[in-house]
Amino acid sequence: MLKDLLAQRVNPDVPSALSGLFPKDDDPRALSFAAGSPREDLFPVAAMQAAFTTAIAENGAHLFQYQTAQGNPALRAKLAARIGKWGQVTTTADQVVLTNGGQQAIELVAKALLNVGDEVAVEVPTYIGALAAFDLYQPTYHAVPLQADGLDLNRLEDTLKQHPRIKLLYTVPDYHNPTGITMSVTKRKQLVDLANRYDFIILEDSPYRDLGYTHDPLPAIKHFDTEGRVVFVSSLSKILMPGLRTGWLVAEGDLLTAILRTRQASDLEANNVVHAAINAYLDTHDLDAHVAALRANYRDQCAALVRALTAYFPDEVAFTQPNGGFFDWVTLPPEVDTADLLTRAAIPQAHVSYVPGTNFYPARNVHNGLRLCFTGLTPDEIDLGMQRLGTVIKAAVREVRPVV
Ligand code: PMP
Repeated sequence: MLKDLLAQRVNPDVPSALSGLFPKDDDPRALSFAAGSPREDLFPVAAMQAAFTTAIAENGAHLFQYQTAQGNPALRAKLAARIGKWGQVTTTADQVVLTNGGQQAIELVAKALLNVGDEVAVEVPTYIGALAAFDLYQPTYHAVPLQADGLDLNRLEDTLKQHPRIKLLYTVPDYHNPTGITMSVTKRKQLVDLANRYDFIILEDSPYRDLGYTHDPLPAIKHFDTEGRVVFVSSLSKILMPGLRTGWLVAEGDLLTAILRTRQASDLEANNVVHAAINAYLDTHDLDAHVAALRANYRDQCAALVRALTAYFPDEVAFTQPNGGFFDWVTLPPEVDTADLLTRAAIPQAHVSYVPGTNFYPARNVHNGLRLCFTGLTPDEIDLGMQRLGTVIKAAVREVRPVV
């Protein structure tokens, strides 16, 4: 069997955390709350097309030459200024690396840090793509629960006391995927204090930080970094277009050197043509104005979802109250398996799809959560979809909790 030749890190008997993300339903009534995709009708396609033309006209053949591992310096300078303004991170272009999406940044950090069996702490539930990237390096996971104001730091400290060799903590502090939760400013500072005390690296992954519907972005965790322990990662996927495959990270010292070394082994260097085009786009367009337009749209969709969940879901079901980002997290009674509910009732009866919660846990051991993405549907579609899903959820809850 050729399968036997595969490396253990891609063990084919254990499905990738990213598999099964987009359940299929070909029915014309189908409404998908599964994929975490931004709205295509809000993509600035014509402006980006013009920016490509400008970048190519201005740079000529040299644009298509090999360049540097860190990527376009002018774009790096703009991103450094942006995170300075909106995240209060003091940094410069020298500490920024352009990557192939935020996903590559996560994978490069994992590759630079993790030996087989190394200990990693993650908040749970957590971003599936981060687990997929970490899984390749075969770490030992420690799951730390989330609270309404972010990571439970008491539980994290208990875990650190028991497992002092934890070397990496992964967190999505702003409008978290999959729960929509945002970490309080107090906790951001306390988390850095813990990292200094217990000697670990924080991977701060923040692709949704600009998409707050009630307030401006909070200071990044990296703002509080005193020892170069925080690697900040973000992306243009959610605020511009994911097909540009442009993410970026901020790191310093030995960590930055190690990350650049892994990047050269992976793909030598960043996608220079695309980055020159993005830089040209940013020279003539106000990204903050574009983001404000996105927020105005997504805010209504987010409000429609929370309204519909309140109206149609039974009292036994809990859901988060996001005020930014793309997602809401729904928790059913522990006896209900949301993967089973999806294929047995949600798709065939309600024609509604979501992402079942199991894959958001490193041990794949929690089965009663589900993620809803509200960005892909209109407020009316969201209302209709939640009305239909509410009906099948009520029936599932009544099966395990009969009304006496
Ligand atoms: N981090 C989080 C939390 C995400 O939700 C995503 C996209 N779903 C990414 C990273 C990676 O996105 P991209 O590679 O498109 O930047």
